Amino acid sequence: MTSALHSPAAPVRRCDILIIGAGPAGMAAALTAAPSGAAIVLVDDNPAPGGQIWRDGPGAHLPPLARAHRERLAGLPNVRVLTGTRVVGLGDTPATDTAPALLLEDGQQGWTQHCGRLVLCTGARELLLPFPGWTLPGVTGAGGLQALIKAGLPVRGQRIVIAGTGPLLLAAAHTAREAGAQVLRIAEQTPWGQLAAFGLQLPRWPAKAVQALPLLHPALRAASHVLEARGTNQLQSVRLQRGTDEEVLECERLACGFGLVPHTHLGQMLGCALNDRQGLAVDAVQATAVPGVFAAGECTGFGGSDKALVEGAMAGHAAAGDTTAALALAPQQARWQSFADALHQRFALSPQLRSLLRPDTLVCRCEDVRHADLAPRAGWIDAKLHTRCGMGPCQGRVCGAAAQFLYGWTPAPAHHLLAPARIATLAGIDESTP
Ligand SMILES: Cc1cc2nc3c(=O)[nH]c(=O)nc-3n(C[C@H](O)[C@H](O)[C@H](O)COP(=O)(O)OP(=O)(O)OC[C@H]3O[C@@H](n4cnc5c(N)ncnc54)[C@H](O)[C@@H]3O)c2cc1C
Repeated sequence: MTSALHSPAAPVRRCDILIIGAGPAGMAAALTAAPSGAAIVLVDDNPAPGGQIWRDGPGAHLPPLARAHRERLAGLPNVRVLTGTRVVGLGDTPATDTAPALLLEDGQQGWTQHCGRLVLCTGARELLLPFPGWTLPGVTGAGGLQALIKAGLPVRGQRIVIAGTGPLLLAAAHTAREAGAQVLRIAEQTPWGQLAAFGLQLPRWPAKAVQALPLLHPALRAASHVLEARGTNQLQSVRLQRGTDEEVLECERLACGFGLVPHTHLGQMLGCALNDRQGLAVDAVQATAVPGVFAAGECTGFGGSDKALVEGAMAGHAAAGDTTAALALAPQQARWQSFADALHQRFALSPQLRSLLRPDTLVCRCEDVRHADLAPRAGWIDAKLHTRCGMGPCQGRVCGAAAQFLYGWTPAPAHHLLAPARIATLAGIDESTP
């Protein structure tokens, strides 16, 4: 990474536009807003910009578009990229400010960041659904395995089973194969009919069709889902449902992903409403209903990197005050939104996945809360009060989304703190007003 992309030692505590998340959406927002001359701060908790799809690391191969975005950002004097920096909560917002202040923390310090406009590009995370054995070492998310391989995890020669739903399974399988792993099975829960219907729609987005073709793999099976991960201290085999049959495969790794969940906690803490896809609700120029706050990309609903790029550009224009330029991108946004709609329609989760759990299957792995403890509870708050579900280190990010699918509960976001913060960060809140 070039020095221009390193976090500065002394943070600038006020900027014109603060962007949270340096994935495709956040990078596009910064690049689009930069010609306005606004002072921009782009924050990401990863060591390098790129987000999920352009994640960097010793095992990653960045595509030219990702490299071009990074190089352009590094050359902009009015854009500060703060990597290794995360939002831990809300700051005190002076009455004169239009956008909310946020509490940020990096490896050395915490501070309150004030801004004129705030753009949320916080992306999405995988939906991990519990099943017997899902907490065994060797079992990860599908995107999680991909991220580990990009970070340098050696998988050469290992036998891997990938299960769940959606195009991310094929992308994860491709990454694993490139790293020398043997992909034994890609178990896609969606039936062949739905997959074929999705395939027939793909020519509407030729770039996606071109991306998808090389990812197809002979180990792909439709109407197939995981039943159980087996092993004592380590994964040894996986039991899968295949249509009306079952199969057992011996393997070293199982990677499961059941789609993506928009990262909305920060937006919800700020008072943003959700849309019917559980993403942050925005208007025609990506503005949320909270004054001064915009949102773009996967946090408004999953739909892939092209949708994230165009929405990021729209939010960048709008945050810089050019709503005409933002609206001019509406046809492109509609085109990628229709791709997102097709994904939602064709890869809808099967209700069968709710019946994988046994009474002793852990649902909240941070606090060791079993399905039998949760099933009788009336809702998320009741479950938290009686079982500590969602009160561990992940703060409900994993089990909250699972509980929503399994029990139909609506996990409530935190009120003030988004993530565990250092005492020094919290103690310094009052001194940090610019
Ligand atoms: C695990 C995973 C793997 C994926 N792999 C692929 C793939 O191989 N191919 C593909 O087409 N799509 C993939 N996707 C889908 C991918 O998310 C989108 O295509 C694209 O990356 C979305 O861009 P985005 O900018 O909206 O979000 P993201 O790329 O997710 O970027 C959001 C960024 O915000 C940061 N962030 C979030 N909250 C905070 C906070 N509180 N403080 C600081 N930073 C924060 C995140 O760390 C992240 O870097 C993957 C998704 C996931 C979850």
